[in-house]
Amino acid sequence: MNVGIVGLGLIGGSLGLELRSLGHYVLGVSRREETCQLARRQEAVDEASAKLAPLANAEIVFICTPLAVIAPTLEQLLPYLDPETVLTDVASVKMPVVETVSPKWSNFVGGHPMTGTAEQGIAAAQIGLFTETPYVLTPTETTPKAALRQVETVARSLGSQIYFCPPQDHDRAVAWISHLPVMVSASLIAACRSESNPAILELAQQLASFGFHDTSRVGGGNPELGVMMARYNRQELLRSLGQYRQSLDQLMSLIEQEDGQALEQLLQSTNQARPQFFSRKHHTGNPSNTTLGG
Ligand code: NAP
Repeated sequence: MNVGIVGLGLIGGSLGLELRSLGHYVLGVSRREETCQLARRQEAVDEASAKLAPLANAEIVFICTPLAVIAPTLEQLLPYLDPETVLTDVASVKMPVVETVSPKWSNFVGGHPMTGTAEQGIAAAQIGLFTETPYVLTPTETTPKAALRQVETVARSLGSQIYFCPPQDHDRAVAWISHLPVMVSASLIAACRSESNPAILELAQQLASFGFHDTSRVGGGNPELGVMMARYNRQELLRSLGQYRQSLDQLMSLIEQEDGQALEQLLQSTNQARPQFFSRKHHTGNPSNTTLGG
């Protein structure tokens, strides 16, 4: 099959490597010639350029650019597409993309491969990035069944675990497990840095070990991704932050009241609940390798 990929970065490049290894012909498009050259050299594409015209020959096109440029990319792309071409994307927030693309291209299926590394760009592209990781597809009532089946088949062939849900459910769920943790982790680092005694702050920095390493990791990542979450998933992020503030208030009041029994009950329930977030049978990767965007 002829597959088009617009945006040859970490996700687009890795997709190209994988699809070529499966025997597909990959037509790549990226903004910079340097990126196209590297993609060709890495054999992530069969051909690549900054021109969208070759995508007229693609049966399916993946938009893998940063979220902020999906809308302008779409406008430039549409005149070249064959009416039968299936369009999909990989963005980490779904409602704004589905609302933008669906009215303009009916053969569209929103998607989000929940994977990543700490790196970005074509140089970081790698084979196996999608293996045994969730790939969420977000059809709506108007999504053509045939288009959905086609994207599902390709995503499954990458070795991903497929999930289906409405775009708004996706955004609400990822707010809890991806976007809220970034903000909580960032505010943890900011709160520690507000220590007024420089000697104590320095001592804390010297003593920081595994616990702080785990809890601060996603808050110390790429700032652009955090800003993207706040911009495109604002409502759901604010909802989860509001609930988190209530949880903090509840904890504070138990500590203030020296209610050790209630505190223990609460910590017992979180102790029992945590494994439910990691119970996917297929999950074999190291979660510490994945980034904010995944
Ligand atoms: P990335 O590594 O920075 O790659 C994005 C690529 O898009 C860049 O290499 C850039 O190529 C290209 N690009 C930028 N503007 C463009 C334009 N106007 N036209 C064509 N190409 C353009 O980013 P990424 O991590 O792959 O993320 C891409 C998408 O995947 C985002 O929508 C993100 O939400 C989603 N996603 C990311 C992750 C993650 O963990 N990283 C996980 C799941 C989904 P040039 O060098 O040519 O400018």
